[in-house]
Amino acid sequence: SSFGHRHVEVDEKQPLVDEVFHKVAGRYDLMNDLMSGFLHRAWKDAMVARIRPRKSGRPWRSIDVAGGTGDIAFRLVEASRKHAQVDVVDINASMLDVGRERAQKRGLADNVTFLEGNAEELAQESSAYDAYTIAFGIRNVPRIDKALAEAYRVLKPGGKFACLEFSKVDVPGLDAIYDAYSFNVIPKLGGLVSGDQESYQYLVESIRKFPNKVRFARMIEDAGFAKVEATPYSGGIAVLHTGVKL
Ligand code: SAM
Repeated sequence: SSFGHRHVEVDEKQPLVDEVFHKVAGRYDLMNDLMSGFLHRAWKDAMVARIRPRKSGRPWRSIDVAGGTGDIAFRLVEASRKHAQVDVVDINASMLDVGRERAQKRGLADNVTFLEGNAEELAQESSAYDAYTIAFGIRNVPRIDKALAEAYRVLKPGGKFACLEFSKVDVPGLDAIYDAYSFNVIPKLGGLVSGDQESYQYLVESIRKFPNKVRFARMIEDAGFAKVEATPYSGGIAVLHTGVKL
């Protein structure tokens, strides 16, 4: 893989990713809105609608890996009418700090726990969760197969897996516009708002390098998941992959 224009070995990738998110943490939520034209909100809403957390009855627990500043966790808790308990796991303390503060402000701190951890080696026990979510996180993880194996391990039998990620646009016309936007506008906008153009260059490159939706679906099946489905959003700018641990 590569970082910006440099070739990067798998062992070098994580420190570079960590540097990016330490630098942008304070501006991360603003940048998401600006760069996606608020679209990321609709994609995240759609993801949570597919998970359908329980609103009453038995406790419902989920883990949101690479959960950053809490967007998915907050939506799950709200959709569950505060029945859900969500563990946000992220490798980056700066992102988690922003998340904790947001949870307090929203009155959701009793339902969301922010924990430092690595998607490739989760500290959580096996068969513990009703759902595993990861949004715009897996392409940052150096060893995707390890992260998927961990997702499978921590889910209860019957547990739902959902991964939202950028993908390659497959609508003719839109693909050219999207490429122009991502290679020209995103790094410049990122540079202007966060003062760090290179980090956003990385972001664009990492989207291009990520496996397409058919290949990624195969990887999810290889990790053991059943009923694997890919749902493209906004012409395939983002794709939701879902699966079940039987
Ligand atoms: N899920 C949030 C969202 O949708 O807004 C945040 C996504 S952000 C683009 C990617 C996150 O992945 C960052 O917070 C980063 O620290 C985290 N991350 C990168 N590598 C990771 C790893 N190996 N394990 C856990 N989190 C990781």
